[in-house]
Amino acid sequence: MKIIRHPPTMQRTALQWRKEGKQIALVPTMGALHPGHEALIKKARKQADILIVSIYVNPTQFSAGEDLHRYPRPFRTDCQKCRLWDVDIVFAPKNLYAPDHSTWVEELSLSQGRCGPFRPGHFRGVTTVVAKLFLICQPHLAFFGQKDAQQLEVIQRMVRDLHFPIKIIPVETIRDTDGLAFSSRNTYLSPTERQKARQFAAALQQAIHHPNPISWFKKEISRLKGVRLDYAEIVNNRLCAAVHIGKTRLIDNVATTLKKK
Ligand code: AMP
Repeated sequence: MKIIRHPPTMQRTALQWRKEGKQIALVPTMGALHPGHEALIKKARKQADILIVSIYVNPTQFSAGEDLHRYPRPFRTDCQKCRLWDVDIVFAPKNLYAPDHSTWVEELSLSQGRCGPFRPGHFRGVTTVVAKLFLICQPHLAFFGQKDAQQLEVIQRMVRDLHFPIKIIPVETIRDTDGLAFSSRNTYLSPTERQKARQFAAALQQAIHHPNPISWFKKEISRLKGVRLDYAEIVNNRLCAAVHIGKTRLIDNVATTLKKK
């Protein structure tokens, strides 16, 4: 496994592989890798000749006052995990923005609801960095988690609208044994907060079995001390929600329709 830090080196290498007819898969991450990331990486591994995992805490997708500076960055452990998961390249740029960077990629419809109003500029940061990663890493396939459902939808729209020749592959949410979706931000939670987070995930799972899932879910959350709801909405047959538990913001979603076998 190789670690590449320099964007032009990554791009040159990827273009050469393309010339050789190699199938490239990209799994974009912000590091602090957990079993959710592992699922993306393992799925990608099966479909690619060359598997690139990018690790970059993208500053432009954090709004003012968010957790950019305390976001976990266990780079050595992340690399050990990637080696174990048979990753070919860890692309870990130091910085992707020139001091006078002035070009943005912005999706103006699907990014407006749900997390949009609560995290101003977030999706613009996401689409911009993902477009950069696509151009640098030149993947044929890119893998994104259903856990960040709105992000997945926004990226699919960007790929369609801007004609990126890339297939986006969604991956189901991976949950811990207590039902909480794995997230790098779970490490912020104290044991009491973790208990509330578990109740948040459980409420979401249970809500879909009630006649009015949203109001049932909101009532459940209002009973949890120290938990503040940003939103609960059904979009594309998924009940999506975001909460603050202490200083930690968590998002999650579940399908409202039973899967056909
Ligand atoms: P992040 O490092 O949080 O930016 O996430 C990188 C990718 O992993 C995104 O496509 C996420 O949607 C995906 N991801 C994060 N957590 C999970 C999870 N629990 N299950 C599946 N995918 C996940």
